[in-house]
Amino acid sequence: MSIWAPKRYVSRVERIDLDDLWASGKRAIMLDRDNTLVPRDRKTAPASVLAWLDAARDRGFKLYMVSNNWHKDQVQRSSSELGLDFICFACKPLPFALNRALARMGVAHEAAVLIGDQLYTDVWAGNFAGVDTILVKPQTHVDLWYTQIFRIFERRALRNVPCEE
Ligand SMILES: [Mg+2]
Repeated sequence: MSIWAPKRYVSRVERIDLDDLWASGKRAIMLDRDNTLVPRDRKTAPASVLAWLDAARDRGFKLYMVSNNWHKDQVQRSSSELGLDFICFACKPLPFALNRALARMGVAHEAAVLIGDQLYTDVWAGNFAGVDTILVKPQTHVDLWYTQIFRIFERRALRNVPCEE
């Protein structure tokens, strides 16, 4: 598996089977916020995401939201709505915030997975930290202007990567 590529590419976070993840030895899930849990054009997560997070908690997973968003109020609001501890302004693709979240959860790198919608921030951060990564499709086509530039290269890089729909 290349350090530049996700371990899995899945259409959306709710599509990820929690029993399979548990069976593969994962005990903690780190999650990106924008366009992974909360669509960029909305303030709240869809009910299906909330249900998936509840199921993950019931299954025994430790959860942590690791967001590059520097608007702490936005991330904090989602954190209370979704019942997740969080780190904002995480500076992904640097791996430090992921390491911090893992230390706070007391979980080993190999027992964790990172889920996010961006190749060059989420997936690279996970790979640099030595954590398995699952790339999901962005929930909306609404993105920050610089993210839209990265999306052009991302689409090219993912051209031949099959997505689990
Ligand atoms: Mg995102």
